[in-house]
Amino acid sequence: MDHNNYVIDQLISAKSIAARVEALADTISEHFHDTDKLVVVGLLRGSFVFIADLVRELDLPCEVDFLETSSYGNSMQSSKEVRILKDLRGEIEGRDILVVEDIVDTGHTLKHVIGLLQSRNPARLEVCALLDKPSRREVDVKATWTGFEIPDEFVVGYGIDYAQRNRNLGYIGSVRFIQD
Ligand code: 5GP
Ligand code: MG
Ligand code: MG
Repeated sequence: MDHNNYVIDQLISAKSIAARVEALADTISEHFHDTDKLVVVGLLRGSFVFIADLVRELDLPCEVDFLETSSYGNSMQSSKEVRILKDLRGEIEGRDILVVEDIVDTGHTLKHVIGLLQSRNPARLEVCALLDKPSRREVDVKATWTGFEIPDEFVVGYGIDYAQRNRNLGYIGSVRFIQD
């Protein structure tokens, strides 16, 4: 497939994202208001912009750590096999954990990550996902908080890539292939 033959249609503006991130951060700050043990865990690489904006809106002391799972690579197909490419640096036993994910699609990634982190006995574990595609779900898993529900479209921007490009867009758009 020719990876250059596409356009990006804006789905969610930078302004809408910023407003939603602020609201999510308020809810999360309220939920964890009594903790001094929060570890915000970003799933690399798609969540890096979202986590950067979200933690700066949190009204809480927190640490930041990262976990990297195997991804689509350069394809647009999801995979049921989830591998850990980079594990957390810190111990999470007894800690409050907020997992930050870019998109919950089939749900395999999130289910695997939740299982892995729960096995390390955190005090509490919640998930904040920027985007959710409920129509694509294959396993029963849900983020505690979701930024936006979106239809079954392949999206890019705000940290999310297509073939490693477009992560630097300030908005979220859907990829549309052009026939010639
Ligand atoms: P799941 O395991 O839920 O099927 O999908 C997990 C990962 O697939 C997401 O965290 C995200 O990195 C990637 N993914 C799912 N939908 C999209 C999409 O529309 N665009 C891009 N670039 N990645 C996606
Ligand atoms: Mg992801
Ligand atoms: Mg990706």
